[in-house]
Amino acid sequence: MSHDGVQGSVLDLVGNTPLVRLRRLTAGLAAQVLVKLEYLNPGGSVKDRAALEMVRAAEAAGLLRPGSTIVEGTSGNTGTGLAQAAAVLGYRCLVVLPNTVAVEKVDVLRAYGAEIVQTRSNLPREHPEHVMNLATRLAAERPGGWLAHQYDNPANPAAHRRTTGPEIWAQTGGRVTHLVSGIGTGGTITGTGAYLKEVSGGRVTVVGADPATSVYHGGDGSPFLVEAAGHYRHPDTAADVWPLSYDPAVVDRIEAIPDRESVLTTRRLAAEEGILVGGSSGLAVAAALRTARGLGADATVVAILPDSGRAYLSKYHSTDWLRRTGFLDGDRPDLLAERIPDRAVVTVTPDTTLRAATELAAEVGDAQPVLPVVLAGRSPRFPTAGSEILGALDVPRLRAGLVPGDPDAAITVPPGAPVTVGTGETVAEALARTAGADVLHVLRDGRLAGVLTRASLTARPLQRS
Ligand code: PMP
Repeated sequence: MSHDGVQGSVLDLVGNTPLVRLRRLTAGLAAQVLVKLEYLNPGGSVKDRAALEMVRAAEAAGLLRPGSTIVEGTSGNTGTGLAQAAAVLGYRCLVVLPNTVAVEKVDVLRAYGAEIVQTRSNLPREHPEHVMNLATRLAAERPGGWLAHQYDNPANPAAHRRTTGPEIWAQTGGRVTHLVSGIGTGGTITGTGAYLKEVSGGRVTVVGADPATSVYHGGDGSPFLVEAAGHYRHPDTAADVWPLSYDPAVVDRIEAIPDRESVLTTRRLAAEEGILVGGSSGLAVAAALRTARGLGADATVVAILPDSGRAYLSKYHSTDWLRRTGFLDGDRPDLLAERIPDRAVVTVTPDTTLRAATELAAEVGDAQPVLPVVLAGRSPRFPTAGSEILGALDVPRLRAGLVPGDPDAAITVPPGAPVTVGTGETVAEALARTAGADVLHVLRDGRLAGVLTRASLTARPLQRS
């Protein structure tokens, strides 16, 4: 600690991340776009800042003592920041995660010595197993348990007001004109944005980057594939609680970014700028590029890049994953993309009556082999997210009157997990990967774009004229 160049612990390395100018993605733009590389924090993400600030505030308030357990519900990075701080400062750490979090992130938490509890994702906010309800319960049950609660903890935005904002102001010599950030808990955009507005006398414009279906800008709340940013809302959620860490008054404008744009921007950052980051960084840069398009050479747009791409090598940076979810089609022969009709899939919801389903089946006729059953309460503006397909009703059986039940009662959702494939897979790849499945739900951009039967794919190759 007393030697120049030697840090007392890794916690002294949190913050002070570099700002780098984009060179290729900005071709043709007059404005500068600078990115803040938060993956260079010692725990690998922007959440090191909030985690350390929350722990220090809890210590100061006497809420953390030797032997205490830090508990949090998180999609991963806050858990890492907390587990890192716990390892250095001598606390235990228990992290509650949704089961959709990338496996690499879970392994990282285990390596830091954290205890992991996984729960289902896509649950209504009131469900007892919802990440935050489970974390709250476990923190209360455990002697010496302390819930960090990043969603409502004022130390979360305070970390960014104290560190991220002043860093950006100093690094740009006060020339920053626009701040672009994703919104998860809202801590980053709220703290950084509030500081930059204050110090600039209101000159800095704050732009939120939000997945196209996130509710923060009025999306329908259905799932999106960019992890850790945006706000998902289950249709059965009664009261949609927004985090207190997010102050919408700080945000001047929100750019709604489709997953495809976020994912493709994420890949370009690695391939063209040498910046390997996660999907929420691609989201932020996509929004920053949109913002920069309308601006002149005197504008300096700063985007926050929350974490590294290493945690997502099996997702956004995997060609296989991109094909299976329909983000990447390529020009290979016999793709599923060529086999699906160019019109929206007709779906039913669990409250559809058998009579209505039978009438729909008659309408679709031979054009669709099944009627997918999807979650109710979503906007028809967006095709159903792959993870919200609940099952499928057989159209020929419905038409033949072979589905038993009271015509005026709701349909029975057939058991068994629906099988999904992507527009970027070849017919042969999809068939090999889904042996035993009779019905394949085809995703484009992670959302339902068509349904095909195994029989129709194995029967005859597509005739091209
Ligand atoms: N991206 C990633 C990868 C994150 O981990 C987070 C934090 N959960 C965010 C974006 C959003 O940051 P914030 O919670 O400060 O809004």
